Amino acid sequence: MVVTDILQAKCPKCGKGNIFDSKGNALLFKMPVMDKRCKECDYKFEVEPGFFFGAMFVSYALACAQMIASLVITWGILEIPVIYMFLCVVLMAFFTSALNFRLSRSIWIYMFYKDR
Ligand SMILES: [Zn+2]
Repeated sequence: MVVTDILQAKCPKCGKGNIFDSKGNALLFKMPVMDKRCKECDYKFEVEPGFFFGAMFVSYALACAQMIASLVITWGILEIPVIYMFLCVVLMAFFTSALNFRLSRSIWIYMFYKDR
């Protein structure tokens, strides 16, 4: 299924190979490492130079949605002071950075994969 393949960052062509070699960890300041080609079917993930430039916009949209969600939760539900609200939003952006990097590139690859 496409949604689970995007979330698991699987190859769009075969659905078996992984797009990323490592998942990365925001706590350790490690970003995910991407494979150039699928190890199962040899599909080239970066179809042209600068292909992942557009994934930044997907990442921006994901980060905005997460920050708005954390703002709504801290402001609307928990009703904590503004400084803690701000801290929660910043921490949310930091801890989801590696996830957003992986997810945005995975979404971007699937958006422009045409063989289905
Ligand atoms: Zn593949």
